Amino acid sequence: MRILLFIFTVSVTFTSFSQKLKTENVILITLDGLRWQEVFGGADSLLVDDSGYVEDPDDLTRQYWNTDPVVRRETLMPFFWNTLVKEGQLYGNRNLGNKVNCSNTMKFSYPGYNEILSGFADDERINSNSKTPNPNVTVLEYLNKQKAFKGKVYAFGSWDVFPYIVNEERSGIPVNAGFEKEERGDLTQKEMILNDLQDEIRSPWGGVRLDVFTHHYALECLMNKKPKVLYIAYGETDDYAHGGKYDQYLWSATQTDDYIREIWEYVQSDENYKNKTSIIITTDHGRGTNPKDTWRSHGGSVPISDQIWIGIIGPDTPATGMMTGDKQYYQNQVARTVAHLLGVKYDQPKAGAVIKEAMK
Ligand SMILES: [Zn+2]
Repeated sequence: MRILLFIFTVSVTFTSFSQKLKTENVILITLDGLRWQEVFGGADSLLVDDSGYVEDPDDLTRQYWNTDPVVRRETLMPFFWNTLVKEGQLYGNRNLGNKVNCSNTMKFSYPGYNEILSGFADDERINSNSKTPNPNVTVLEYLNKQKAFKGKVYAFGSWDVFPYIVNEERSGIPVNAGFEKEERGDLTQKEMILNDLQDEIRSPWGGVRLDVFTHHYALECLMNKKPKVLYIAYGETDDYAHGGKYDQYLWSATQTDDYIREIWEYVQSDENYKNKTSIIITTDHGRGTNPKDTWRSHGGSVPISDQIWIGIIGPDTPATGMMTGDKQYYQNQVARTVAHLLGVKYDQPKAGAVIKEAMK
């Protein structure tokens, strides 16, 4: 009798824990260096008609400018404003007091991705963008070690440093990044075409491919391999900004917004994912605001480039929309939030807290 009672208690405890959240899959998405200023305010008046950073100011103004920032942001990122904010949450509108910051003081890419993925800043060791295998275990690796997720974690990135950030070798997570082709397993027709096109369509950059390849490789993986945890790291926004191309930066933001729409619509149309998949979207760092120089840049010399934003949509997240009110969040909260959504305790004491407002 005692034994029976014990079993009964354990099973009740287990059931109540597993029933708490509906999320069974998480898709984590990053857009490199996309400022909160554009996310919440659309095209920037200081840059949109600047012939120094824009090929055709009249054309770009016609496409993106409106005196109303609400119209501007919807024009720039329609999925964010018509779906993510209506059905999920968006953090980081500093005009309303809602703040999200990096806790690392580097304010550039590898330290930002390490903070997002590991859940803590590591300024001592992660202080360059060099191709050094990450000494920290990311939440992706942590999950890939769990029985329920093993072999069901995949990562795709435009930047060729992602295999090191995710520590592909140690973690065992397949990372397709840079100009890597898809070569694992039986290839789909689309993957074969992507492999050819990636060779033939030149990227403007040496270490970063165009996001179209990252996106479609990731989408093929989602549709055919059915990952439980998928990380997609888009890169164009940052590289175009560094290059002083504000028009391309805006077009990339709009295109990536549409890629995320495509992913969300697929998720909500597929029995495997529908109503049991959460998507978290964020960025590795912000940028400056001075049109003459700092908007192109970020890092220690641009203090405010630690200002970022986070979006969350899924079955466990209340549809509170644009988050308001004086509240401070950090980049280091993403990793534990990902694990928590999946019902996993992230055993990493240094990691930031779960974003509790993102849970019903
Ligand atoms: Zn970056």
